[in-house]
Amino acid sequence: LPRLSQHAYSDAAKRALSRRPALFINNEWVSSSHDKTVPVMDPSSGREVTRIVDASDADVDRAVAAARTAFDDGRWSNLPPLAREGMMHRLADLIAAHAEEFAELEAIDNGKPKGMAAAVDVPGAVGMMHYMAGWASKLGGEMIEPSSVPRGMFHSYVRREPVGVAAQIVPWNFPLLMAVLKISPALAAGCTLVLKPAEQTSLTALRLADLVAEAGFPAGVINVITGLGETAGDRLVKHPDVDKVAFTGSTEVGKIINRNATDTLKRVTLELGGKSPVVVLPDVDVEAAAPGAAGAIFFNSGQVCIAGSRLYAHRSIFDKLIEGVAGAASFWAPRASLDPEGHMGPLVSAEQFDRVMGYIEAGKRDGASVAVGGDAPASEGGYYVNPTVLVDVKPGMSVVEEEIFGPVVVAQRFDDLDEVAREANNSCYGLGAGIWTRDVGAMHKLAAKIKAGTVWGNCHAVIDPALPFGGFKQSGLGREQARQGVEMYTELKSVIIQL
Ligand code: NAD
Repeated sequence: LPRLSQHAYSDAAKRALSRRPALFINNEWVSSSHDKTVPVMDPSSGREVTRIVDASDADVDRAVAAARTAFDDGRWSNLPPLAREGMMHRLADLIAAHAEEFAELEAIDNGKPKGMAAAVDVPGAVGMMHYMAGWASKLGGEMIEPSSVPRGMFHSYVRREPVGVAAQIVPWNFPLLMAVLKISPALAAGCTLVLKPAEQTSLTALRLADLVAEAGFPAGVINVITGLGETAGDRLVKHPDVDKVAFTGSTEVGKIINRNATDTLKRVTLELGGKSPVVVLPDVDVEAAAPGAAGAIFFNSGQVCIAGSRLYAHRSIFDKLIEGVAGAASFWAPRASLDPEGHMGPLVSAEQFDRVMGYIEAGKRDGASVAVGGDAPASEGGYYVNPTVLVDVKPGMSVVEEEIFGPVVVAQRFDDLDEVAREANNSCYGLGAGIWTRDVGAMHKLAAKIKAGTVWGNCHAVIDPALPFGGFKQSGLGREQARQGVEMYTELKSVIIQL
């Protein structure tokens, strides 16, 4: 059991865990208007490690008012773009300077291995912030000649302006990375914002807030409130002074948020769930594809919106591939998040543990066979689930149709490209897809046929700030990252002047 119980925390982590629960509004740490708090659990031990504020309606109103004032008086949007860009670079540098602490806090809060947080989450956040900073000075409008009048009669142009106050609600799977992914395009566009991290994992967003004033941001530009989705999140989404809502999380909550934002016609971007297919063609090098397919689902304990959770292998290589994926499962055996040997940690919460084990049991009841895993290792507390491969599955089973958000992949055989394209698209989701082959023609044909916001060839879940990211179908609305992601925080204004 030792590898499944949490290791000692560093002094920096102990300091972060011993802070008084507070909200970050107007560059100050302020108390809530009431005394409600939410417990924060370490998923590796299942023990409570600290508490955070459960923001009240008055707290939400206060944060939105701060962002509203900071937007309306132009203290952020009217700064020279290079000054805004500089502050964003400074914030990125400050995150990098505290990389070790961020990685440890993320591991304690979310359960992911500290090594993974240090290799993926923290550098990903730093890179995203640096990349987005550049857009602050590069976004611009356009001069367009009117089409229906003689030349020289009118002067017309299109301005690109910040949309205003953004409410940003993020999930628990990549807490720091998701926070930066949300705040950085908003800042580059000239918006002010209120960020609400997930109630399960708010620690790194709060630590990030510590660095905001140090980076030089004026008060009220970045505000961070913590609390429950149904109360604080809901108030934020419905708030009349919020102009735009950006949300990442479940499709179910995304639909609620979209409905709630409609009353005041807020701009909405949604990054939601997925059930991403990984298609392995017969020509493939199974030695390379098997660990690739395993990593596609077991990374971050499968708690990834683009996790490769449906594996389609050509009949001729199916058995060999499954053997390889099952073999790779030992590399992903769960360990406590501060165990330096670990590649996969526990799930984020007891609720998520029950949900994932419930799906595995439902799969077995429906006739699926377990090629590897299918159970939870013995542990003293903690929410560990073994990497699981289910075979003998078919369309219609809940494990095939629904997003499990755990280390569980369902594997099926196929015979030809048209059939697998049809099956891959047989889902209400369309976030990501992986294709493994050395056949260039087949790769491009399938990439065009599969309905997904991102398609990977011979890799999975490679994300780059310069490429738009988002979902087809019920996986989302709008795009994040890249120029398109920044433009989602802007309004267009046409100006037409008779000369
Ligand atoms: P969730 O969608 O319930 O929560 C995500 C965020 O939304 C949290 O900050 C939460 O506080 C907030 N929220 C919840 N209800 C709200 C409401 N009514 N109004 C405003 N904000 C609200 O996700 P979850 O409960 O943490 O996880 C449930 C499932 O969501 C997972 O099992 C998985 O399927 C999916 N999920 C997807 C992603 C993704 O990146 N696509 C990330 C996390 C979870």
